[in-house]
Amino acid sequence: MTARCCADVRADTAAGKVTAAETLTGALDRAREVNAGREGLNIFAWRDDDDARRQSASIGDRLADTAPGALLGVPVAVKDNIATLTMPTTCGSRILEGYVSPYEATVVKRLRAAGGIVFGKTNMDEFAMGSSTEHSAYGPTKNPIAPDRVPGGSSGGSAAAVASGIVSIALGSETGGSVRQPAAFCGIVGVKPTYGRVSRFGLVAFASSLDQVGVFGQTVDDAARGLGAIAGHDEMDSTSADIAVPDYTAGANADVKGLVVGLPKEYFPASLDSQIRARCDAAIERLKALGATVKEVSLPHTDLAIPVYYIIAPAEASSNLARFDGVRYGLRLTGDGLRGMYEATRSGGFGPEVTRRILLGTYVLSAGYYDAYYRKAQQVRTLIANDFRRVFDSGVHVLFTPTAPSTAFPIGAISDPYEMYLSDIFTATANLAGVPAMSIPIGRIGGLPVGGQFLASHFDEARMFTAAYALERALGAEAHA
Ligand code: GLN
Repeated sequence: MTARCCADVRADTAAGKVTAAETLTGALDRAREVNAGREGLNIFAWRDDDDARRQSASIGDRLADTAPGALLGVPVAVKDNIATLTMPTTCGSRILEGYVSPYEATVVKRLRAAGGIVFGKTNMDEFAMGSSTEHSAYGPTKNPIAPDRVPGGSSGGSAAAVASGIVSIALGSETGGSVRQPAAFCGIVGVKPTYGRVSRFGLVAFASSLDQVGVFGQTVDDAARGLGAIAGHDEMDSTSADIAVPDYTAGANADVKGLVVGLPKEYFPASLDSQIRARCDAAIERLKALGATVKEVSLPHTDLAIPVYYIIAPAEASSNLARFDGVRYGLRLTGDGLRGMYEATRSGGFGPEVTRRILLGTYVLSAGYYDAYYRKAQQVRTLIANDFRRVFDSGVHVLFTPTAPSTAFPIGAISDPYEMYLSDIFTATANLAGVPAMSIPIGRIGGLPVGGQFLASHFDEARMFTAAYALERALGAEAHA
């Protein structure tokens, strides 16, 4: 079962055919039905249903407005690392136990301004470090399609909230694939916008040069509407770009004749799972049948993305996470004096993966290793970004690749951190280069969803959406079969 799509809810709410309160009741019923709570799928870290009811009750007052809002009456789930005033913001971590932000993220303010209803904070890998949503202080989230499997991560709670039909839109965050990979594992749409397209104000920092808020949708249209509502310049985030936001739904019915689609050969290695390759090939055939020109291209530095990502992201994380010291936020554990308090709080508050990243990051930034690791990684990052620039400058409009090297794996199956890191092999490049990318469902293998990824040039999300709309339309029910 799916939630009613964003466009219908908005139109019916604006026309007075349905109230926001009725839509919310539907979402709450569905959450109960799928057992979204701790004992069931464990999708939400926090919910405040009374507050959601108050929000929807106030929507009626806006019906007389000339522009009632693009998300009027639409419930939206929000990842637990995005600051909200009414619920805690704990990043799936014990160290933020009980922390309620004194301010709200810009993306949440924009959701509200568009008439959206903030529906719960979703479970996540601690501080967004992970690819499975197994590493949360609140326990693992289960994949609604196959509850013995992971939903992907780190935004697995948001992906599961959409995939189980509770909400049509959810916010996640992306540092190396945390929206696209769970979207692929759960059979929904996930978008990572261009770096700077969406404000990061109120998104708890993991790796600031890579982080972006991303959007999940049941469909391409839901995702386009969700992104449209939160995108655009924000004076509270100096890295947000002052570039006009186009209507991402404009290409909903456009044809893609003449669209040049590049297939980077490094994303289709001989070792790629043959069934995933077959799904991608079928999608590529559809694009050709629609009149797109498909050609092989090369992004030669792709294989360096994982090592580079796992130097830069932990380096930035080790600096960003220094603020969690027992003084300013959440948890405080006592120890011997001030230093003992720091040590007790940080060792008791952070889980093993976060601790590993802080250690890694501190190491690569330390005098003597900085040049060998961190500086070198920054140089290679430039090469990866240049690969994309060269391909897009050569007349390629969008790229198409698999989103992830596997389908959703069983909970507990991957215990080696390095093996987990390889889940991001096709997604981390977009974050390193800052380009937009999205995953859409392109079929299933043994009942488990497979995602196909489109990537575009900086701030060219509109073209990426046009391609995704067209492929979604062409695949029809095949996308979920
Ligand atoms: N899985 C990657 C990591 O663990 C990406 C996480 C993300 O995008 N937030 O760092």
